[in-house]
Amino acid sequence: MHYISTRGHPERRKFCEVLLEGLAPDGGLYVPEVYPRLDDATLERWRGLSYPVLAFEILSLYIDDIPPADLKAICAKTYRPEVFGTARIAPVRTLETGLHVAELSNGPTLAFKDMAMQLLGNLLEYELARRGEELNILGATSGDTGSAAEYAMRGKEGIRVFMMSPHGRMSAFQQAQMFSLQDDNIHNIAIEGVFDDCQDIVKAVSGDADFKRRHRIGAVNSINWARLVAQVVYYFSAYFQVTEENSSEVDFAVPSGNFGNVCAGHVARMMGLPISRLVIATNENDVLDEFFRTGVYRVRGRADTHETSSPSMDISKASNLERFVFDLLGRDASRTRSLFYDQLRESGSFDLSGDPAFGKAADHFGFRSGKSTHADRLKMIRDAWHRFNALIDPHTADGVKVAREHSVSVVPMIVLETALPVKFAETIREALGREPVPPQRFDGIEGLPRRFKLLPADAQTVKTYIAEILQAAVC
Ligand SMILES: *Cc1c(COP(=O)(O)O)cnc(C)c1O
Repeated sequence: MHYISTRGHPERRKFCEVLLEGLAPDGGLYVPEVYPRLDDATLERWRGLSYPVLAFEILSLYIDDIPPADLKAICAKTYRPEVFGTARIAPVRTLETGLHVAELSNGPTLAFKDMAMQLLGNLLEYELARRGEELNILGATSGDTGSAAEYAMRGKEGIRVFMMSPHGRMSAFQQAQMFSLQDDNIHNIAIEGVFDDCQDIVKAVSGDADFKRRHRIGAVNSINWARLVAQVVYYFSAYFQVTEENSSEVDFAVPSGNFGNVCAGHVARMMGLPISRLVIATNENDVLDEFFRTGVYRVRGRADTHETSSPSMDISKASNLERFVFDLLGRDASRTRSLFYDQLRESGSFDLSGDPAFGKAADHFGFRSGKSTHADRLKMIRDAWHRFNALIDPHTADGVKVAREHSVSVVPMIVLETALPVKFAETIREALGREPVPPQRFDGIEGLPRRFKLLPADAQTVKTYIAEILQAAVC
């Protein structure tokens, strides 16, 4: 299997190169040259597999530069009950007939990002050791990515993490989770700005090829293909748990921000998993809902990026959308480049409404979308609590809200649970007047000493800081 850039860069890459590189040299995103198509017999065989073995089967279709025995060991080491709390790893529970929740948030940081990040940590450790290299991970987070990355990389040989987050904008629990880590290889940088400032700094630093090479800078944000492919696995796992035979179709509803999670659903569907519809749920930051309803993709300015009670979906642009648009346009790299590079730079938007290809997003690729607000979120949290005795987090509540709007009675709807309620206690209190109880291993976390560096939203200042830390590490 080779990987190509959505913007047409002529070089093809292998998985481990893509793993370490993140973005393609032309600023495009890496995608597999083809999506492997499954036959019925394969799907039938996979139905009975445990999660780590299923992960191995799926990953081996995309990774042929790691020996199978090693890849199998990496999957087994990653998807263990001790790490994810249950033997099923991603169990599905039923709220009511036809409406299910796939629990993806029982990992170390209580959000679905652990599902991919724990694998990424083990893949990186493996590949860096094999090459005798080191890697300095630079990332941006509005909360969940950062903690998932840090818990996946802490203490790992050859890896340092520099994680930027918008100062004072994460929940109390998220701040405590990240800033209480005392591992030498973990560096938290609080940026005076919003999440997008953090993301822009990542782009600016990664765009400085010389700095990037000299300091061995890499990324783990959601554009990394390895994360995306790890997420494909739980679509299969959830499908097998909800259906009895492989001809049945299901729908998925996915609380969405950067389009990473639902893009993995798109990949699963392209591989032949019988997904009827992929329902995108956004919060008040409805960039994606607007695109899928109207064909207009409009990056929001800072003033139109709202701080909401489902903060991990507070985005002004959806970084992974380019992967889908590339497929939507029949994999036309020069058009993808013109939209995501030329047009976004010129006007901050593009419009596919008049393009015959746009209709395919719904007809051929199964996408639907909807939006949820603070009031909807509270209502869904109350409803789930009172009717089903289920405590759901605000992001999952957005998913349930939009799932209900698109539900068709004969097709099971699976909502992806993207975090546990304890990460967003304030909203749970507002909805129910009660406290979500954290798992015991987090007792007292909010009182632990904190370690972070406060910096202005300026790429040069961040570069200087990183260079100083690395310099000190060498001495
Ligand atoms: C990251 C995150 C999302 C959004 O996922 P994307 O892959 O960016 O679409 C939704 N909910 C929670 C809790 C998250 O952490």
